[in-house]
Amino acid sequence: MAGVYISYPFCAQKCTYCNFASGVFPAALEGEYFEALLAEIKSTEWPWTPETVYLGGGTPSQMDPGKLARLLEAIPGGKWREATVEAAPGGITAELAGAWARAGINRVSLGVQSFAQAELRGTGRKHTAGIVASEVEILRGSGISNISVDLISGLPRQTEESWNDSLDWVRRLDVPHVSIYMLEVDEDSRLGLEILDGGTKYGAGRVPREEDIAGFYEKAVDMLAEHGLARYEISNFARAGYESVHNLKYWRLEPYLGFGADAHSFCGGKRWQNAESPADYVVRMREAGAAVVERTVASMEEEYFFLGLRQMEGVEAGPERIAPYRKDVERLVEMGLVEYDERRLRLTRRGVLLSNDVFEVFIHTCPG
Ligand code: SF4
Repeated sequence: MAGVYISYPFCAQKCTYCNFASGVFPAALEGEYFEALLAEIKSTEWPWTPETVYLGGGTPSQMDPGKLARLLEAIPGGKWREATVEAAPGGITAELAGAWARAGINRVSLGVQSFAQAELRGTGRKHTAGIVASEVEILRGSGISNISVDLISGLPRQTEESWNDSLDWVRRLDVPHVSIYMLEVDEDSRLGLEILDGGTKYGAGRVPREEDIAGFYEKAVDMLAEHGLARYEISNFARAGYESVHNLKYWRLEPYLGFGADAHSFCGGKRWQNAESPADYVVRMREAGAAVVERTVASMEEEYFFLGLRQMEGVEAGPERIAPYRKDVERLVEMGLVEYDERRLRLTRRGVLLSNDVFEVFIHTCPG
């Protein structure tokens, strides 16, 4: 079954740790972007009726709800099995949540990142733990109880105590889905750049040690399991039946179409990607009626392993399928990073922490 992803890269602020192609842009661009996005969706010849819709960003929760409804109306289906909007806590009112529910949204992913004020202050996020708690109640009151909360292990000023405090909040809020990301250090975020190049503005010197970040993540795995949320993918935890139907498509190589700046699509064994910056996207849509900047043929066998292995259930891999990788798989089994029983291949608990080492094997040894 297929999915739809809509990118809305506009945010109220640029968070220090954020390495997405999102940020603060002129209001006029936001209006033009909406028209381009609507035009892109409307001009699509749909190869299927989607099962899921996911509005990501950026901060699609800051979009005018009437406009959000117009985007959704242009997508076939209507009563999708799962329709998610990513939201930044701090602006969810009963009116907004009600409008989302009427437009077909039945899941909200809250980019909380932390419940600790000392951590939040340095990132640019404006919410407090109390605001998150009251907005979770507002969503539930509007009939949206499928709620996910994101946390980041590794933010500057994070301590064992503050991490435990954030986990306690998650437990008390009793949401059915949680995502835990370990801080990504790269040149695409201001904090990442500071960690790599030095500086004191964004708190690079206060980032926990790598082993502590992994320890925080492991602690979350145990706490969430005790609370009934099983890890079903490296970064994702859910009560049974609340796994993200949309995100599972990425790891199971099911088709999806992406709309908007930097959106990716995968269909018919091909991948393609739109222009990254919203301004570039708007210009391309206006001048050419399309914004695709890159097309590739998917390496299906390679992707089958390195995307599928992200799931805790692993991938089906009988002796024939594993044959080109047999030696490497045996080595990974010996290292304690994967389990293999001639039917399924899956990461071990240790393998999750060193998953890039495992994935590399499949990328480098892919036949052809
Ligand atoms: S973390 Fe979220 S809200 Fe912050 S800049 Fe990135 S996309 Fe925007």
